[in-house]
Amino acid sequence: MKPLKNHIAGQWTDAEHHELLDVENPSSTEVIAQVPLSVAAEVDRAVAAAKAAFPAWSATPVSRRCELLFRFADLLRTHSDELTRLITRENGKSLPDARAEVKRALENTEVACGMPMLQQGDKLIGAAADIDGEVLRLPLGVFGMIAPFNFPLMVPFWFFPYALATGNTYVVKPSEQTPCCMGRVADLIEQAGFPPGVFNVVHGDRRAAERLLESPDVRGISFVGTSRVCRIVAARCAETNKRFQALGSAKNHLIAMPDAKMDEMIRNMITSCYGCAGQRCMASSAIVGVGETMYREVVGRFVEASRQVRVADPLDPAVADEPMVMGPVISAKSKQFIFEMIQAGLDEGATLALDGRDLTVPGCEQGHFIGPTVFSDVQPGIKIHQTEIFGPVVVILKADSLDEAIEIVNNHQYGNGASIYTQNGYWAREFKLRTQCGMIGINIGIPAPVAPLPFGGMKNSLMADTKGQGKAAIEFFTDRKIITERYWPEPGA
Ligand code: NAD
Repeated sequence: MKPLKNHIAGQWTDAEHHELLDVENPSSTEVIAQVPLSVAAEVDRAVAAAKAAFPAWSATPVSRRCELLFRFADLLRTHSDELTRLITRENGKSLPDARAEVKRALENTEVACGMPMLQQGDKLIGAAADIDGEVLRLPLGVFGMIAPFNFPLMVPFWFFPYALATGNTYVVKPSEQTPCCMGRVADLIEQAGFPPGVFNVVHGDRRAAERLLESPDVRGISFVGTSRVCRIVAARCAETNKRFQALGSAKNHLIAMPDAKMDEMIRNMITSCYGCAGQRCMASSAIVGVGETMYREVVGRFVEASRQVRVADPLDPAVADEPMVMGPVISAKSKQFIFEMIQAGLDEGATLALDGRDLTVPGCEQGHFIGPTVFSDVQPGIKIHQTEIFGPVVVILKADSLDEAIEIVNNHQYGNGASIYTQNGYWAREFKLRTQCGMIGINIGIPAPVAPLPFGGMKNSLMADTKGQGKAAIEFFTDRKIITERYWPEPGA
């Protein structure tokens, strides 16, 4: 098996260093690729290529930059089935989940195609006597992206189409656990006709990411991953005077109000909690039943529905068209951590209402599968409530009122997303205004904003001033230069 290659200055290159890591299909544990763990020199070459490409690319008319993006969008559409399977193979999520990921990547590319309208600056005629003021929005140079494993295709698209459209150049370091998709993206970028060096991919682990953070030629970093690493990214970028946006961990709550539409809500909760085996940053993993009656009913109905979730290899043709299939978690290490957290829940006295630990998928005995797991009688603040478990483990808490439910959410260290189920406009309004989370759902279990809207959380889920996607991304990838100008009349004019 040949190792994956880096894509630098329009060339596919073998990483100079030969340390390799196996990439597994998490369903079968079959080794599907080997990823090179690039050393600093390799990252430097990619940054140098992006730096060299910047002057010509930033001077290329925005209409031409977008013409190439349109072509790239067409190629994404043509190759969407192939990309979908690639995601499922390296990540383990179901085909419908992978397809949705490709769709969102495409949407972001399409929004970035509107850059001739979006990148316009402002002009103030007569800012003072005979003086005009002008605001230009200009690209900055080389930007870097450090990606997580859970959306190997989509997450970089929250950023790079906007970076390219605004005239910046780019270096992506994919997750070493799911590196295959970005290689394919680099192929399509090349086919679309982008000049060499405008978009580069360097594989590697923490060390390659650290080099990107250190590089004096990188003007900004978009990071998506755990909040632990967000802090490191924020500190390094501050030291080296880079722009940064670091989107981190989450524990998203679903609030079940007494008037919620029960059947619709339970269906919606199941998709939110178990899609991508709970490994979405917008996955919900904490349910709050408001009032004794709703709490009891939601525990009973949710546990019952959780039992029905089909756990399987998502590439098994027998389940290919099923809308709700749960695949494995990403790795043996991740599975072990999730088991430790389940034990912690038991040790803390929560009730294990459904235990997914003892599950084998026939034909995939080595796969990293865990069945839906539900804890009830969970006290706010215990370890399984405070920690992002990032697997199919759901905790259910009780609140006596909406105020108490909001307090549970607001006391949590993370503030990525939260949703309320209710038909009552007053409750919904209170919830959306007072909840300290970046993305709010009302009768929507996964309130992930569409591409034109900003994506990002609050509190420990986001270390940044600007978010991803749409206008927020344009803000990040452009600097405002302010011109104050005056011309004196020619004598005799
Ligand atoms: P991770 O933090 O382990 O790794 C993410 C990336 O950081 C990888 O490319 C990795 O190589 C690199 N990295 C690891 N240690 C580093 C270090 N010390 N310095 C610099 N780079 C380092 O995250 P993961 O496990 O791949 O992804 C899952 C996490 O991502 C979850 O916490 C999830 O909530 C979060 N996530 C958040 C969002 C969001 O929008 N908030 C979206 C997707 C995923």
